[in-house]
Amino acid sequence: MSNLERFYNLVDGNYQASATGCWLTTANPYTGADWAEVPQCGIDDVEQAVAAAYRAFSSGPWARLNATARGKLLRRLGDLIARDAEKLAALEVRDNGKLYAEMLGQLRYLPEWYYYFGGLADKIEGGVLPSDKAEVFSYTKREPLGVVVAITPWNSPLMLLTWKLAPALAAGNTVVIKPSEFTSCSTLALMALFKEAGFPDGVVNTVTGFGHEVGTALVSHPLVAKVAFTGGDATGASVYSQAAKNIKHVTLELGGKSPNIIFADAHIENAVKGAISGIFAASGQTCIAGSRLLVQRSVYQQVSEKVVALARTAQLGDPMLSTTQVGPITTLPQRDKVLQYIDVAREGGAECLLGGKRPEAEALANGWFVEPTIFADVHNQMRIAREEVFGPILSIIPFDDDDEALSIANDTPYGLAAGVWTADIRRAFRFTDQIRAGTVWVNTYRAVSFMAPFGGYKQSGIGRENGQVAIDDYLQTKSVWVNLAEEVLNPFVMR
Ligand code: NAD
Repeated sequence: MSNLERFYNLVDGNYQASATGCWLTTANPYTGADWAEVPQCGIDDVEQAVAAAYRAFSSGPWARLNATARGKLLRRLGDLIARDAEKLAALEVRDNGKLYAEMLGQLRYLPEWYYYFGGLADKIEGGVLPSDKAEVFSYTKREPLGVVVAITPWNSPLMLLTWKLAPALAAGNTVVIKPSEFTSCSTLALMALFKEAGFPDGVVNTVTGFGHEVGTALVSHPLVAKVAFTGGDATGASVYSQAAKNIKHVTLELGGKSPNIIFADAHIENAVKGAISGIFAASGQTCIAGSRLLVQRSVYQQVSEKVVALARTAQLGDPMLSTTQVGPITTLPQRDKVLQYIDVAREGGAECLLGGKRPEAEALANGWFVEPTIFADVHNQMRIAREEVFGPILSIIPFDDDDEALSIANDTPYGLAAGVWTADIRRAFRFTDQIRAGTVWVNTYRAVSFMAPFGGYKQSGIGRENGQVAIDDYLQTKSVWVNLAEEVLNPFVMR
């Protein structure tokens, strides 16, 4: 038996290892050393978890619980997450290397999702329908879908899980969670809080392991009604086509290549901070990263110099320290992918103004760091401007006027987010209208809320998380017809 810390899955209310007894190790990106193990599940574990969720949905106490009681459970869970925020945030940092300050901020904010969607649980209403037929009464009911599979990536495990769990449970579904194989520990730790809050067995279950093994088995399972997925676009496309085989509902939150546009009339100091937070926060490992910085040519030199000067001051280091501003990349394959994209940018002809390599400091040698990197004179057709890197690599692209800025901003297969920095209110509104993205920020960047719908246009995804609309993606509508007539008329014609 290894001496690494072990985490267990929760299935039907029981903590358990995998059916085969195999384990997956998980490493700390700051030290590069393995620190924990999670069960490496297979098909048998998938069967067990889906069966438990299906039972809980169809016939367990959850199925009989009224919506107000469901809401109370969610709010109790929110209180418990608030109580354990520090502990859960520290686990996330060990697993994904993001800053403790960032993860603690997320964990302290997460209860709001459970309060908000808990409050929404008993406000899911159908309606009485007007009728064009005599002596019928018809109405709609809004019902949960059934078993929801929630598949999450490694960048913000508990936040991206919460965006799925809170509306799914508020709507009355049951859930099987498949966290990233790189960052499963915080999700497994969270499960104890579901038990403590009093959720019935089988309502929330976990299956850890590899995407190509348990991920595909979950997505193609006939008893699963919906897949809610966040991750890479290639995986998203594969999940979409697998789910289509038995017509499952899907929500896909995929990648982005978001434009962050600075006009000459903007408050330049603020815009520079917005550019930095857009790409170097979380070491660029966010789907909303403002990885394409579009700068109006008259301030191009000035903005480039200021962005480089501010990025140069970023403190790389131990993500648990409050003085650290940029942590490591979460996984070793991702660190290598980021370094490869630096070569891609150079080969494409972009000029490297900052970084472009691993840091040399001895103290950072074991961690999976990449220096904050800035490329200038990027053309929007270069690969570095078209493909999602998911790392601390900024491409600066010049433009002359509004039309050119808009055309470059929209010339991407993605459409997750965009930023516009300008003092001109009419231009701000024109851009919020014409940018093809699910979120547009004006004179700010990287704001999200439980109240604001979030999701992608184009290849950045399908469906919305957060806000009242999110719950619609976890419900279906039933129309009910009640005949009030004494006599049933001609059976050979439609009523
Ligand atoms: P991924 O898409 O490979 O994995 C996301 C989740 O899907 C993981 O839990 C994984 O195990 C699972 N999965 C993998 N293959 C699957 C399959 N065939 N069927 C079902 N589930 C499967 O993403 P990743 O490894 O976490 O990161 C890869 C890339 O995705 C990154 O380089 C980045 O570009 C992007 N990414 C995007 C986001 C986002 O929020 N949009 C987050 C993380 C990563």
